[in-house]
Amino acid sequence: MAQGAHLATSNVERPSIFELIASQSLDATFYPAFKKIALYLGSKNPDRYQLIVKYYDEVFLAFNAIVQNYYLHKNGASISESFYGLTRFNLKTNQFKRRDFIVSFAVLVIIPYLLRKLDKKVTTVKEKLEDELSNDDKYKFIGVYTYKTLKASYEFAQIIKYISYLSGRSKTHNIPLFLSSIGLRHANLQDDSFSFSDIISGNVKFSTVIGSMVLRTLEFGGFFLQFLQWYQESSASQKIISQLPTPIAPKQDSDAKKYSNICPLCYQHFAIPTVLTISGYVFCYKCITKHLRRHQYCPVTNYPATMDDLTRLYDNN
Ligand SMILES: [Zn+2]
Repeated sequence: MAQGAHLATSNVERPSIFELIASQSLDATFYPAFKKIALYLGSKNPDRYQLIVKYYDEVFLAFNAIVQNYYLHKNGASISESFYGLTRFNLKTNQFKRRDFIVSFAVLVIIPYLLRKLDKKVTTVKEKLEDELSNDDKYKFIGVYTYKTLKASYEFAQIIKYISYLSGRSKTHNIPLFLSSIGLRHANLQDDSFSFSDIISGNVKFSTVIGSMVLRTLEFGGFFLQFLQWYQESSASQKIISQLPTPIAPKQDSDAKKYSNICPLCYQHFAIPTVLTISGYVFCYKCITKHLRRHQYCPVTNYPATMDDLTRLYDNN
């Protein structure tokens, strides 16, 4: 009977796989969501925000470091784990000590940054290989292939981990937590909320109120962004855009006349005409892909741009 009672309490402490995956995907929302904002600012005012777009990974690293450091100190959990009422604990000591803090910080902040950099590097190498494959590229090819295989194996191992957590065989649901021997459980957070009358009567410091408001906004903002992302994806098939009136076509600027019928990079007639959709300028396919591999902006307008913004034109010339 006593054992039964013990099992019941530990089941309450153990979060469901849904809570864990939800908190994980909330964490993964912040990076692309803030990137969208940075790209938007960059396209509105390239002179002012070009650096944020260019060094977005580093800007996000700093932001993530500040936020996760705060939540790890306050709740012993990441921001999204805190949002779902979860807390971290060492599987051996059952506590959250300095060692666990350092490991968690590395796993939440430093390692994702390094992995993103590595991923970008591999993608660039892979694109170059597809362009011009020679014999001395053999090692690069092996490197790219090994990386892709390791990544696929990791994702497969992750699925196994989910299943073993679900069946109760594992105490952790993902590989980073398993490797750092840190588990997650429901938190018994102390109530640090305050009412409106507390603020009026001055029982709470003004800075506490502001700080708490900023953090709440961030937590709910992340959740809202996740919802927005889902909504955007699901409503993309509905033809909302076709219901809007046709806007007036923008006027040509002086640069557009200068480069009429020639590639702004090589000053020749376009070989395989390719338009950079964010600026509307047409280049040779080779010229613009080579440029975008080194710089993430339009060579004429300086608008932030990536390979995804290229469209091949079929002009029959
Ligand atoms: Zn060209």
